[in-house]
Amino acid sequence: MNILNLVRENIKSLKPYSSARDEYKDATSDDMIFLDANENPFENGVNRYPDPQQNSVKDLLSEIKKVDKKNILLGNGSDEVLDLIFRAFCEPKEDNIITLPPTYGMYSVLANINNIENKTVLLTEDFQPKVEQIFEKVDKNSKILFLCSPNNPSGNSFSTNKVEELLKKFNGLVVIDEAYIDFSEEKSWLERLEEFPNLIITQTLSKAYGLAGIRLGVCYASEEIIAILNNIKPPYNVNELTQQKAIERLQKVEEVQQEIIEIKAERNQLLESLKEIDFINTIYPTDCNFVLVKVDDATKRYNQLIKKGIVIRNRTTQPLCENTLRFTVGTSLENERLLQALKEI
Ligand SMILES: *Cc1c(COP(=O)(O)O)cnc(C)c1O
Repeated sequence: MNILNLVRENIKSLKPYSSARDEYKDATSDDMIFLDANENPFENGVNRYPDPQQNSVKDLLSEIKKVDKKNILLGNGSDEVLDLIFRAFCEPKEDNIITLPPTYGMYSVLANINNIENKTVLLTEDFQPKVEQIFEKVDKNSKILFLCSPNNPSGNSFSTNKVEELLKKFNGLVVIDEAYIDFSEEKSWLERLEEFPNLIITQTLSKAYGLAGIRLGVCYASEEIIAILNNIKPPYNVNELTQQKAIERLQKVEEVQQEIIEIKAERNQLLESLKEIDFINTIYPTDCNFVLVKVDDATKRYNQLIKKGIVIRNRTTQPLCENTLRFTVGTSLENERLLQALKEI
């Protein structure tokens, strides 16, 4: 597969903006002075433009995830990364994407913003991709297939065989959204990045890494794909404070690992306790830091919990999710409060 054939014509011939920091970045000596970017010269910690290539953050990610730096692109949340992928590869009013509801809402929002048709193929009742039906929907303008695994809101991971078949047979890009991979017992597809030239993996520091507030999304793909996305990204898309916070956190991976262990233990405890609630009919298996359950009347239960000061997500309007609620795993105390409230209503 030639990835270049998938790129929009205007993007192929694009000459990217060259920032001051792109043209000169190597401070070779301490007494060098920078009068190239029209910054205010008085030091306050953030008076300089940030590194447009976020080298220090990427060095740490590269070490932690065992991926070469040239295969990494960072964005202002995964949402920016996903938007860049749309803008690089999908021609408005011509191309289409394939998504598998129920899934993360942002794919269809971004498709709408970019004027791209979203062809949907429902997951099975146990939330797995219907491979045959997907290929029936695909046409020559199908540029991207979005697989969210582990999937939000169902919580499960997709079968490895099915994902592999999709990766091999789909003649476009396959984006695997691994926002929840750090909570999962399944392996990341990152290990197999080199096997599939059409594979793009997105991850984020918003969930397991505990940094939703700084907005840092990560994209892993072939050097070729990363170069295309790099060409169209806003030059300073990841701000200095975000880079600093990310570096701080990535230097403390044991702390992150410990929190993940605790969240998973809390999740398993919650899964057990939820069995005691008589209006919960189904507790779906989860590989994430949330649990989806089917109840008697989701909207009624949602409103009752709000009255008790507990905000959860009502997913009842999503396909295959009638009368479902999604609970994020909180601290031990928070989960106890949730259970107490569920028992009282
Ligand atoms: C939370 C979430 C994200 C995270 O997006 P950010 O913009 O990085 O915060 C991405 N994908 C899925 C499926 C999510 O649930």
